[in-house]
Amino acid sequence: MAPERVLVRLPNWLGDVFMARPLLHALRAAWPGARLLAIGPEPLLGLLAPERGADESVAWPRDGAARRAATARIRAWVPDVALVLPASFSSAWLAWRSGAATRVGYRGEGRALLLTHALRRRPRGERHLSDEFLDLAAVLGVIPVPVPPLVPSAEDVRDARAVLDAAGVATGERHALLAPRSAFGPAREWFADRFAATGKALVERGLRVLICGTAAEAASCEWIARAIGPGANSVAGRTPLPTLVALAASARLALCNDSGIAHLAAATGTPTLQIYGSASSAWTAARGPHVRVLHRAPVCSPCWQHTCSIGTRCLDAVTVTWVLAETDRLLKEAG
Ligand code: SF4
Repeated sequence: MAPERVLVRLPNWLGDVFMARPLLHALRAAWPGARLLAIGPEPLLGLLAPERGADESVAWPRDGAARRAATARIRAWVPDVALVLPASFSSAWLAWRSGAATRVGYRGEGRALLLTHALRRRPRGERHLSDEFLDLAAVLGVIPVPVPPLVPSAEDVRDARAVLDAAGVATGERHALLAPRSAFGPAREWFADRFAATGKALVERGLRVLICGTAAEAASCEWIARAIGPGANSVAGRTPLPTLVALAASARLALCNDSGIAHLAAATGTPTLQIYGSASSAWTAARGPHVRVLHRAPVCSPCWQHTCSIGTRCLDAVTVTWVLAETDRLLKEAG
Protein backbone atom coordinates (compact mmCIF):
# COMPACT_ATOMS: atom_id res chain seq x y z
CA MET A 1 0.00 0.00 0.00
CA ALA A 2 1.27 3.46 -0.89
CA PRO A 3 2.29 5.61 2.09
CA GLU A 4 0.49 8.87 2.84
CA ARG A 5 3.37 10.77 4.41
CA VAL A 6 6.97 10.43 3.36
CA LEU A 7 9.83 12.09 5.18
CA VAL A 8 13.04 12.66 3.22
CA ARG A 9 16.14 13.68 5.14
CA LEU A 10 18.02 15.58 2.43
CA PRO A 11 21.81 15.69 2.15
CA ASN A 12 23.74 18.57 3.68
CA TRP A 13 25.70 19.58 0.59
CA LEU A 14 24.49 21.66 -2.34
CA GLY A 15 25.58 19.21 -5.03
CA ASP A 16 24.16 16.24 -3.15
CA VAL A 17 20.74 17.88 -2.95
CA PHE A 18 20.70 18.11 -6.75
CA MET A 19 21.75 14.47 -6.91
CA ALA A 20 18.66 13.70 -4.80
CA ARG A 21 16.31 15.16 -7.43
CA PRO A 22 15.89 11.84 -9.30
CA LEU A 23 14.75 10.25 -6.04
CA LEU A 24 12.22 13.02 -5.34
CA HIS A 25 10.81 12.77 -8.86
CA ALA A 26 10.59 8.99 -8.56
CA LEU A 27 8.72 9.28 -5.23
CA ARG A 28 6.21 11.71 -6.77
CA ALA A 29 5.59 9.39 -9.70
CA ALA A 30 5.27 6.24 -7.57
CA TRP A 31 3.10 7.76 -4.84
CA PRO A 32 1.18 10.68 -6.40
CA GLY A 33 -1.19 10.90 -3.44
CA ALA A 34 1.53 11.04 -0.80
CA ARG A 35 2.74 14.20 0.87
CA LEU A 36 6.50 14.68 0.95
CA LEU A 37 8.29 16.50 3.72
CA ALA A 38 11.93 17.42 3.17
CA ILE A 39 14.22 18.18 6.07
CA GLY A 40 17.69 19.59 5.57
CA PRO A 41 19.83 22.74 5.83
CA GLU A 42 17.63 25.81 5.40
CA PRO A 43 19.53 27.47 2.49
CA LEU A 44 19.11 24.31 0.39
CA LEU A 45 15.40 23.69 0.96
CA GLY A 46 14.22 26.59 -1.22
CA LEU A 47 16.07 25.23 -4.25
CA LEU A 48 13.48 22.52 -4.79
CA ALA A 49 10.49 24.82 -4.33
CA PRO A 50 10.02 25.82 -8.01
CA GLU A 51 9.46 22.17 -9.01
CA ARG A 52 7.57 21.25 -5.82
CA GLY A 53 10.30 18.83 -4.81
CA ALA A 54 8.47 18.53 -1.49
CA ASP A 55 5.07 19.64 -0.16
CA GLU A 56 6.53 20.83 3.09
CA SER A 57 9.96 21.47 4.46
CA VAL A 58 11.57 21.74 7.85
CA ALA A 59 14.97 23.32 8.40
CA TRP A 60 17.48 21.12 10.18
CA PRO A 61 19.44 23.50 12.42
CA ARG A 62 22.85 23.06 14.00
CA ASP A 63 21.81 24.04 17.50
CA GLY A 64 20.78 21.19 19.82
CA ALA A 65 17.65 22.83 21.27
CA ALA A 66 16.47 23.87 17.80
CA ARG A 67 17.05 20.31 16.60
CA ARG A 68 14.87 18.95 19.34
CA ALA A 69 12.11 21.35 18.28
CA ALA A 70 12.49 20.29 14.62
CA THR A 71 12.36 16.62 15.65
CA ALA A 72 9.16 17.23 17.65
CA ARG A 73 7.63 18.90 14.59
CA ILE A 74 8.51 15.93 12.41
CA ARG A 75 7.11 13.50 14.96
CA ALA A 76 3.84 15.46 15.11
CA TRP A 77 3.65 15.21 11.29
CA VAL A 78 3.45 11.40 11.73
CA PRO A 79 5.37 10.11 8.68
CA ASP A 80 4.77 6.54 7.44
CA VAL A 81 8.10 6.29 5.65
CA ALA A 82 11.45 7.98 6.30
CA LEU A 83 14.23 7.95 3.72
CA VAL A 84 17.62 8.86 5.14
CA LEU A 85 20.07 10.20 2.55
CA PRO A 86 23.03 11.40 4.69
CA ALA A 87 25.29 8.76 6.19
CA SER A 88 25.38 10.26 9.68
CA PHE A 89 24.13 8.61 12.87
CA SER A 90 22.06 11.71 13.68
CA SER A 91 20.09 11.38 10.43
CA ALA A 92 19.09 7.79 11.22
CA TRP A 93 18.34 8.84 14.79
CA LEU A 94 15.97 11.53 13.44
CA ALA A 95 14.19 8.90 11.31
CA TRP A 96 13.78 6.66 14.35
CA ARG A 97 12.56 9.56 16.49
CA SER A 98 10.07 10.55 13.77
CA GLY A 99 8.01 7.46 14.56
CA ALA A 100 7.93 6.34 10.91
CA ALA A 101 7.20 2.62 10.73
CA THR A 102 9.47 2.24 7.67
CA ARG A 103 12.94 3.76 7.85
CA VAL A 104 15.38 3.27 4.98
CA GLY A 105 19.04 4.23 4.79
CA TYR A 106 22.53 2.87 4.39
CA ARG A 107 24.07 1.00 7.27
CA GLY A 108 27.22 2.17 9.05
CA GLU A 109 27.91 4.41 12.06
CA GLY A 110 25.81 2.02 14.17
CA ARG A 111 22.65 2.96 12.26
CA ALA A 112 21.35 -0.53 11.50
CA LEU A 113 19.42 -0.72 14.79
CA LEU A 114 17.59 2.53 13.99
CA LEU A 115 16.52 1.57 10.45
CA THR A 116 14.00 -1.03 9.31
CA HIS A 117 15.85 -1.32 5.97
CA ALA A 118 19.59 -0.84 6.51
CA LEU A 119 21.17 -1.28 3.09
CA ARG A 120 24.73 -2.33 2.53
CA ARG A 121 26.62 0.30 0.55
CA ARG A 122 28.95 -0.66 -2.26
CA PRO A 123 32.50 0.70 -2.25
CA ARG A 124 32.49 4.42 -3.00
CA GLY A 125 32.38 5.12 -6.71
CA GLU A 126 31.02 1.78 -7.84
CA ARG A 127 27.63 3.39 -8.17
CA HIS A 128 26.71 7.03 -8.79
CA LEU A 129 25.38 8.84 -5.71
CA SER A 130 22.09 9.67 -7.48
CA ASP A 131 21.59 5.96 -8.10
CA GLU A 132 22.49 5.15 -4.49
CA PHE A 133 19.73 7.51 -3.36
CA LEU A 134 17.31 5.89 -5.81
CA ASP A 135 18.28 2.47 -4.47
CA LEU A 136 16.91 3.46 -1.06
CA ALA A 137 13.43 3.87 -2.51
CA ALA A 138 13.79 0.87 -4.80
CA VAL A 139 13.46 -1.43 -1.77
CA LEU A 140 9.92 -0.01 -1.44
CA GLY A 141 9.14 -0.63 -5.11
CA VAL A 142 9.87 2.91 -6.37
CA ILE A 143 11.43 3.02 -9.84
CA PRO A 144 13.37 5.85 -11.54
CA VAL A 145 11.59 8.25 -13.89
CA PRO A 146 12.96 10.85 -16.32
CA VAL A 147 14.01 14.04 -14.54
CA PRO A 148 13.06 17.31 -16.27
CA PRO A 149 15.35 20.34 -16.23
CA LEU A 150 15.00 22.55 -13.17
CA VAL A 151 13.04 25.69 -14.08
CA PRO A 152 13.60 28.77 -11.90
CA SER A 153 10.70 30.77 -10.51
CA ALA A 154 9.66 34.07 -12.12
CA GLU A 155 10.93 35.92 -9.06
CA ASP A 156 14.34 34.28 -9.32
CA VAL A 157 14.49 35.10 -13.03
CA ARG A 158 13.82 38.75 -12.16
CA ASP A 159 16.58 38.70 -9.54
CA ALA A 160 19.00 37.13 -12.04
CA ARG A 161 18.14 39.83 -14.58
CA ALA A 162 19.02 42.45 -11.98
CA VAL A 163 22.41 40.79 -11.47
CA LEU A 164 22.99 40.75 -15.24
CA ASP A 165 21.99 44.42 -15.50
CA ALA A 166 24.39 45.34 -12.72
CA ALA A 167 27.16 43.48 -14.55
CA GLY A 168 26.37 45.37 -17.75
CA VAL A 169 25.07 42.31 -19.62
CA ALA A 170 22.39 43.60 -21.99
CA THR A 171 19.17 41.70 -22.69
CA GLY A 172 19.87 39.32 -25.55
CA GLU A 173 23.61 39.18 -24.83
CA ARG A 174 24.78 35.65 -24.10
CA HIS A 175 26.70 34.88 -20.95
CA ALA A 176 28.83 32.09 -19.53
CA LEU A 177 29.26 31.27 -15.85
CA LEU A 178 32.65 30.42 -14.43
CA ALA A 179 32.67 28.85 -10.96
CA PRO A 180 36.37 28.62 -10.09
CA ARG A 181 36.14 27.69 -6.41
CA SER A 182 35.18 24.64 -4.38
CA ALA A 183 34.14 24.62 -0.73
CA PHE A 184 36.06 21.36 -0.35
CA GLY A 185 39.51 22.83 -0.97
CA PRO A 186 42.29 23.38 -3.50
CA ALA A 187 42.52 19.72 -4.54
CA ARG A 188 39.22 20.33 -6.32
CA GLU A 189 40.04 23.77 -7.76
CA TRP A 190 41.39 24.08 -11.27
CA PHE A 191 43.96 26.84 -11.48
CA ALA A 192 42.88 30.49 -11.46
CA ASP A 193 45.15 31.42 -14.39
CA ARG A 194 43.61 28.64 -16.50
CA PHE A 195 40.10 29.82 -15.65
CA ALA A 196 41.23 33.30 -16.71
CA ALA A 197 42.72 32.06 -20.01
CA THR A 198 39.56 30.07 -20.75
CA GLY A 199 37.40 33.06 -19.82
CA LYS A 200 39.35 35.24 -22.25
CA ALA A 201 38.75 32.74 -25.03
CA LEU A 202 35.01 32.69 -24.20
CA VAL A 203 34.89 36.49 -24.43
CA GLU A 204 36.57 36.19 -27.85
CA ARG A 205 33.76 33.77 -28.80
CA GLY A 206 31.23 36.54 -28.07
CA LEU A 207 30.17 35.54 -24.55
CA ARG A 208 30.01 37.78 -21.51
CA VAL A 209 31.67 36.00 -18.62
CA LEU A 210 30.39 36.06 -15.03
CA ILE A 211 32.54 34.67 -12.24
CA CYS A 212 30.44 33.08 -9.47
CA GLY A 213 31.24 32.27 -5.90
CA THR A 214 30.42 33.07 -2.31
CA ALA A 215 31.19 36.35 -0.55
CA ALA A 216 34.22 34.67 1.03
CA GLU A 217 35.50 33.78 -2.46
CA ALA A 218 34.96 37.28 -3.87
CA ALA A 219 38.63 38.34 -3.92
CA SER A 220 39.74 35.35 -6.02
CA CYS A 221 36.74 35.74 -8.35
CA GLU A 222 37.57 39.45 -8.79
CA TRP A 223 41.16 38.49 -9.62
CA ILE A 224 40.00 36.19 -12.41
CA ALA A 225 37.58 38.81 -13.76
CA ARG A 226 40.39 41.37 -13.87
CA ALA A 227 42.74 38.88 -15.52
CA ILE A 228 40.16 38.22 -18.24
CA GLY A 229 39.61 41.95 -18.74
CA PRO A 230 36.71 43.63 -20.56
CA GLY A 231 33.72 41.34 -20.94
CA ALA A 232 34.12 39.69 -17.54
CA ASN A 233 32.64 40.55 -14.15
CA SER A 234 32.66 38.91 -10.76
CA VAL A 235 29.23 38.42 -9.20
CA ALA A 236 30.60 36.50 -6.22
CA GLY A 237 28.64 37.11 -3.04
CA ARG A 238 25.78 38.73 -4.95
CA THR A 239 23.84 35.64 -6.01
CA PRO A 240 21.71 33.81 -3.44
CA LEU A 241 21.31 30.19 -4.53
CA PRO A 242 17.84 30.58 -6.15
CA THR A 243 19.19 33.56 -8.15
CA LEU A 244 22.15 31.45 -9.18
CA VAL A 245 19.76 28.80 -10.50
CA ALA A 246 18.12 31.43 -12.72
CA LEU A 247 21.48 32.84 -13.78
CA ALA A 248 22.65 29.35 -14.72
CA ALA A 249 19.41 28.51 -16.52
CA SER A 250 19.84 31.52 -18.80
CA ALA A 251 23.58 30.94 -19.39
CA ARG A 252 24.97 29.60 -22.63
CA LEU A 253 27.59 27.64 -20.72
CA ALA A 254 28.83 26.89 -17.20
CA LEU A 255 32.44 25.97 -16.47
CA CYS A 256 32.82 24.59 -12.95
CA ASN A 257 34.96 22.53 -10.66
CA ASP A 258 33.74 19.49 -8.74
CA SER A 259 31.43 21.73 -6.75
CA GLY A 260 27.76 22.27 -6.03
CA ILE A 261 27.42 24.92 -8.74
CA ALA A 262 28.22 22.31 -11.40
CA HIS A 263 25.24 20.22 -10.25
CA LEU A 264 23.06 23.31 -10.05
CA ALA A 265 23.93 24.39 -13.61
CA ALA A 266 23.63 20.87 -15.04
CA ALA A 267 20.18 20.49 -13.43
CA THR A 268 18.87 23.49 -15.37
CA GLY A 269 19.91 21.85 -18.64
CA THR A 270 22.59 24.46 -19.39
CA PRO A 271 25.68 23.01 -21.13
CA THR A 272 28.04 22.35 -18.22
CA LEU A 273 31.72 21.43 -18.10
CA GLN A 274 32.92 20.01 -14.82
CA ILE A 275 36.61 19.67 -14.00
CA TYR A 276 37.53 16.93 -11.55
CA GLY A 277 40.41 16.78 -9.10
CA SER A 278 40.85 14.59 -6.05
CA ALA A 279 37.43 12.92 -5.95
CA SER A 280 35.73 10.21 -8.00
CA SER A 281 33.75 11.42 -10.99
CA ALA A 282 32.19 7.96 -11.19
CA TRP A 283 30.54 8.67 -7.84
CA THR A 284 29.48 12.30 -7.98
CA ALA A 285 29.86 13.77 -11.48
CA ALA A 286 27.15 16.25 -12.45
CA ARG A 287 24.35 14.81 -14.53
CA GLY A 288 22.16 16.58 -17.02
CA PRO A 289 21.27 16.64 -20.70
CA HIS A 290 24.47 18.50 -21.67
CA VAL A 291 27.35 17.71 -19.36
CA ARG A 292 31.04 17.07 -20.02
CA VAL A 293 33.19 15.80 -17.19
CA LEU A 294 36.91 16.47 -17.61
CA HIS A 295 38.83 14.07 -15.43
CA ARG A 296 42.29 12.66 -16.07
CA ALA A 297 42.73 10.42 -13.07
CA PRO A 298 46.34 9.52 -12.19
CA VAL A 299 47.12 6.32 -10.28
CA CYS A 300 46.68 8.15 -6.97
CA SER A 301 43.07 9.06 -7.84
CA PRO A 302 40.69 9.29 -6.13
CA CYS A 303 42.49 10.39 -3.00
CA TRP A 304 39.60 12.47 -1.55
CA GLN A 305 42.11 14.95 -0.15
CA HIS A 306 41.41 18.63 0.46
CA THR A 307 44.95 19.61 -0.51
CA CYS A 308 47.45 17.69 -2.56
CA SER A 309 51.06 17.14 -1.55
CA ILE A 310 52.26 16.10 -5.01
CA GLY A 311 51.17 19.03 -7.15
CA THR A 312 47.56 18.18 -8.12
CA ARG A 313 48.58 16.23 -11.22
CA CYS A 314 44.94 15.39 -11.80
CA LEU A 315 44.05 19.06 -12.25
CA ASP A 316 47.27 19.87 -14.09
CA ALA A 317 46.31 17.31 -16.73
CA VAL A 318 43.27 19.41 -17.65
CA THR A 319 44.62 21.91 -20.16
CA VAL A 320 42.97 25.08 -21.45
CA THR A 321 43.17 23.62 -24.95
CA TRP A 322 41.22 20.55 -23.87
CA VAL A 323 38.59 22.62 -22.04
CA LEU A 324 38.06 24.86 -25.07
CA ALA A 325 37.81 21.91 -27.45
CA GLU A 326 35.17 20.31 -25.21
CA THR A 327 33.41 23.67 -24.87
CA ASP A 328 33.09 23.99 -28.62
CA ARG A 329 31.90 20.39 -28.99
CA LEU A 330 29.37 20.78 -26.18
CA LEU A 331 27.96 24.05 -27.51
CA LYS A 332 27.61 22.56 -30.98
CA GLU A 333 25.88 19.48 -29.57
CA ALA A 334 23.52 21.53 -27.38
CA GLY A 335 22.57 23.72 -30.38
S1 SF4 B 1 47.00 12.82 -4.75
FE1 SF4 B 1 46.59 12.44 -6.92
S2 SF4 B 1 44.36 12.46 -7.13
FE2 SF4 B 1 44.85 13.38 -5.17
S3 SF4 B 1 44.87 15.59 -5.58
FE3 SF4 B 1 46.98 14.83 -5.77
S4 SF4 B 1 47.26 14.34 -7.95
FE4 SF4 B 1 45.05 14.55 -7.57
